[in-house]
Amino acid sequence: MTETPELVAGARTAFSDAVHLLVGLRADSIERDDFMREHVILDSLYQELQELRFGEKQGSESVRRATHGSAAPGNVSAISLLDDIDRTVRSWWPNVDSAEHQPTVARLYTLCDWPWTPDELADLKRMTRTVEQWVERANSMLAPDQRHTYELRAACPSCGETYLSVDDGAGEMVRKYVLQASQSSAECLACGMNWAPENYRALAYDLGAPLPEGVLE
Ligand SMILES: [Zn+2]
Repeated sequence: MTETPELVAGARTAFSDAVHLLVGLRADSIERDDFMREHVILDSLYQELQELRFGEKQGSESVRRATHGSAAPGNVSAISLLDDIDRTVRSWWPNVDSAEHQPTVARLYTLCDWPWTPDELADLKRMTRTVEQWVERANSMLAPDQRHTYELRAACPSCGETYLSVDDGAGEMVRKYVLQASQSSAECLACGMNWAPENYRALAYDLGAPLPEGVLE
C-alpha cells in the first residue's frame, strides 16, 4: 500500500481545511455606501457563534456583513452547537494549556499539526466530517435573517407614497415608511410593487437612499 502516506496527507489537508472554515478568519468584501467594494476580514464562524451566544458584539476590529437576526441574549441553537463543538473537541484532545483563552481553537490547531498515522485514517476522516457538519450548521445559523426588514426612507417610485399609517398592535396608529426591504425582496406597502434583490441597487440609486449593509449580498 504505497499510496497510504498520500491518503493520510490528503486526509490531514481535508481536516485542516474544515478546521480553518470553522475557526479561521474569513476574507470577504462588503459594499460601501458609495457602492465600492471593500475587502474586509471577518471573525471566524466559531467567534460569531460565541457572539450569538452572548447576545452582544464584543470588541473587534473586523467588520461584519450584516446584523444577525437574533440579538437576543443566549441564542439557544448557538449555545447548543457551541456546547457540542467544545465537548466533542475536548474528547478528541483533552490536554490544553490552562492559560489558553480559546481552548477549543487551540485543540483543533493541535490536531491539524498532529502526525497522523495510517491506523488513524478512519478517525481523522470521521472528525473531518464532524467539523464540516458544524460549519454547515453555523453557516445556516448565521445566515442573515430572511424575515428581517428594513425601511427605505424615501417615496415609492411607483405610487409616490412615503408613509402609511398602521396600527402598532396597541391601538395606536403609527406612521411607517411604505418601502420595506428584506434580504429577499423590497416591497411598497402602499401599492404592492416589489423589487427583486438584483434591483435593489437601481431602486436605492433612484431614491438616493443608502441600503442597509448586507442586502446586496
Ligand atoms: Zn408604492
